[in-house]
Amino acid sequence: MVNAAGKFGPYNQPGPAPTTSAIGVGQARALPLGGQSGSDLVRSRIALRIRLRVVRPGDRLPDAGVLAEELGISEITVRRALEGMCQDGLLDRRRGRAGGTFVAQGWDTVVALTHDAEEAASLDAFHLLLECGLVAHGAGEVPAERLDGLRALVEDMDRTDDPAHLAELETRFHLDLAEVLGGPGIREFAADLLGRLCLLLPAPRPEAVRERNGCHAELLTELGRGATDRAVRAVKAHQRSRHD
Ligand SMILES: [Zn+2]
Repeated sequence: MVNAAGKFGPYNQPGPAPTTSAIGVGQARALPLGGQSGSDLVRSRIALRIRLRVVRPGDRLPDAGVLAEELGISEITVRRALEGMCQDGLLDRRRGRAGGTFVAQGWDTVVALTHDAEEAASLDAFHLLLECGLVAHGAGEVPAERLDGLRALVEDMDRTDDPAHLAELETRFHLDLAEVLGGPGIREFAADLLGRLCLLLPAPRPEAVRERNGCHAELLTELGRGATDRAVRAVKAHQRSRHD
């Protein structure tokens, strides 16, 4: 299904703002389900690729046609979004034979201007619900070998001291978790949330990632044994460590 907001449309149709949730994780201001315009989608997916270090400041982005195809939106929307990002100083356009659209060297500095802790908290709360739901949904049915890739990421996080690599692995873990438990469509859904969070929050500090990594390890252990309650508890403990 293709619509203006992305490949997996129905969840991000514009709708009324949700009110504070009865179970205490919602935010009155939250619009996690609100529409992400095509332009916002381009921004958040580029931000996600930078967090994942698929592209880095100074790198050339794929052509607009390629991005349009990948994101399931029109090329004209992508062109307009890239133009806007150039005006904001996030991207640079260079003409000529070696030209194209490049990630600005000052990406981090410019993106820091869009940080918004309040909006981030509402998206984060929604991400927590997604993961709790996925864990409950998948508990007891996840073949052990499907967790191997996630275990390898946890080991990599324990081994590295590089802040950018830690932030990359942290994000990758949550994307892969969404895919293992929910399939490729849910990975896209998580990518929408995490990409938007990349624009709203600075990359996590290395100490924070290391602390969360204990929760990752626990989650995988409990998922492996089919202990739903304990696995959900590990997801919640991870969330708490984000905000301490
Ligand atoms: Zn994590």
